[in-house]
Order: sequence, then C-alpha cells, then structure tokens
Amino acid sequence: MDNTDKQIDKKEKAKERRDKRRQEISLIRSIPYSDHQRWWSAETIAVVTGANRGIGFEIAHQLALHGLTVVLTSRDTAVGEESAKVLQEGGFKVVFHQLDVIDQESIRTFCSWVKENYGGIDILINNAGFNHNIGSENSVEFAEKVININYIGAKNMIKAAIPLMKPNPAGARIVSVSSRLGRLNGRKNRISDDALRQQLEDADVISEELIDGTVNKFLEQVKDGSWTNGGWPQNNTDYSLSKLAVNAYTRLVARELTGRPEGEKIFVNCYCPGWVKTAMTGWAGQVTPEEGADTAIWLSLLPDMRISGKFFAERREIHF
Ligand code: NDP
Repeated sequence: MDNTDKQIDKKEKAKERRDKRRQEISLIRSIPYSDHQRWWSAETIAVVTGANRGIGFEIAHQLALHGLTVVLTSRDTAVGEESAKVLQEGGFKVVFHQLDVIDQESIRTFCSWVKENYGGIDILINNAGFNHNIGSENSVEFAEKVININYIGAKNMIKAAIPLMKPNPAGARIVSVSSRLGRLNGRKNRISDDALRQQLEDADVISEELIDGTVNKFLEQVKDGSWTNGGWPQNNTDYSLSKLAVNAYTRLVARELTGRPEGEKIFVNCYCPGWVKTAMTGWAGQVTPEEGADTAIWLSLLPDMRISGKFFAERREIHF
C-alpha cells in the first residue's frame, strides 16, 4: 500500500467510525429519559442565541420537545418571531425575544426582561455565530466581525447570564457551540507558537487578558497585513481562532465558578456539532442540524451533571 492508499484507507476508517457513532447516538436518543432522571420541567428556562435558523433553531426545537420553556432569540425581530411561531404552532412552550449578542443595550434589555418574566435562566446555549468563508476559502476581510460575534458575543452572554442563573439542585448549565477547528493541538490546524499553546492549554494559567491578547494580536496583524506570517491556524484562520478563544474562555469560566456552593452550581461546557448542513456551510456538511444539535441537548439535560470546563463532540469528551 503506498502513502495515498494509506491515506484513503485512514479516511474510510474514520468515516466508518463516525457513521457507527451516529447510529449509536440515534439509538440512544430513542430511549426516553425516565422520571427520576428528568430534573427539568415546563418551568425550566432555556435561552438559545441565534435560534432563528440552523443549529440554534434545532436546539430550541429539541429542548422544547423535552418539555422545557424555550426562549428563542434572534437579532432580527421579524425573522425570530416567524421562527418561534413555527414551534408555537407545533404546541411547544416557546417564546421569542430580540437579542443581538454583540449589542450591550440589546443584552441589557433582554436580561431585564428574562429576570422580570421568568426570574432568571436555567440553561444558556451560546449558539450565535458567523463565518464568512465557505469550504477552503481563507479571507480575513471580516475577521473582526467573526471574532466579535463568535468569541466576544459568547463572552458577553456568559458574563450577563451568570448573575441570572437560577439556583438548581441539578446545576444550571451553559453550553457554547464551538468547533474542532478551534482545537489547540489540531494536527493540521493550530497556532504554531508552542509556548502560547501551552499557556492556553493550562486551565490554571488561562486568563481573559491572555485570550483577548491573543485574538487582538491577530486582529492587529490583519490590519497591518502581516497575519499570514503570524503562525495562526492555517484553515479558516479567523473562525478557528474565534472558536479557540471560546474553548479557552469556557475553561476559564468553569475554573472561576468551581467554588459555588451545592444548589448554586453552574456547569460550563462547549462542543463541536460536526460539519452541519446549514447556511454557514452553504448546506454542505455531513450531518443534519438535528444531529448537530444533539450534544447540546445532551449536555443541557444530563442528569447527575458534574462536568464543567470540557469540550465534547458526539456526546464524548474530546481534547481542546
Ligand atoms: P447559521 O449561519 O445557520 O446560523 C447562525 C445564527 O447565528 C443565525 O441565527 C444568525 O442570525 C445568528 N447570529 C449571527 N450574529 C449574531 C448576533 N450578533 N447576535 C445574535 N445572533 C447572531 O449557522 P449554524 O447554524 O451552522 O451555526 C450555529 C453555530 O454552530 C455557530 O456558532 C457556528 O459557528 C457553529 N458551528 C457550525 C458548524 C457547521 O458545520 N454548520 C460547525 C461547527 C460549529 P441571522 O440569521 O440574523 O444572521
């Protein structure tokens, strides 16, 4: 077998493994949660950002199917109301509220509304995201927007939501939709600076300054045109870095929240939905939005939750 054959063989084996895992998950999903596992009720409030379409809409749909009250949010009111209507007409407990994750005024208005109407939040799903490039393109023309929506937007929401998370014996949950493209030690796509990677990998060392400093350095290099020699991830550079920042921030927040007393725990995790057929990928991809939403639902509802600051895919922990 020459090298090309070996690579094809490896790819085929990887595909077989993925397909097998997808089949396993679809079987597991058909088993309903039993009454003693079901810690949530119709009074459990789940907020989903960027839920007017794609994976976010599916997350809202599936959480509603499990009987929670879902706050479907969207930056565009008319579009969001339409999406919420689809679920409301299916008999689900879904309400709409406007929310733009990079607009502080919008976040403030949303938080006051959710506090006043529901007393707080049990589950926050940071799903809102943006990627300008499709396929193997690697333009950084919209790098600032990509970093802002994906990383700063998720950070804004986590900061705003923490004071609103309701005390709950099962623990409140924050789940961010991230990507394997943001892995620190991805084989083909990584930051080349070993020391920086090690710092970003060490949950005890990560700080907001370190993460912000990293993304800001990249954005400065985009402005002065030197980014191609900056040792940044090679594929989807701006997007990969934005998700790397989400992952690092997840670990940082999980560390900061560790000491909360029983009954007031908040578990913070992130996951990769796979390569999903949505507008973001030009409807290319290997999995449906329904499958892409699955790990978010699993992390949101997991009974006996103890896991925080971890990265998942297909209901399994994976390396950052
Ligand atoms: P879509 O482009 O279909 O959906 C993105 C959603 O984010 C839209 O609802 C969009 O709203 C919303 N959004 C964008 N900016 C903001 C903002 N400032 N405030 C609030 N909402 C905003 O993509 P997907 O469903 O595929 O992506 C969902 C998440 O999954 C993203 O975080 C993405 O990075 C992640 N992901 C997707 C993968 C894939 O293969 N599709 C792979 C890995 C991760 P609007 O309609 O107004 O633009």
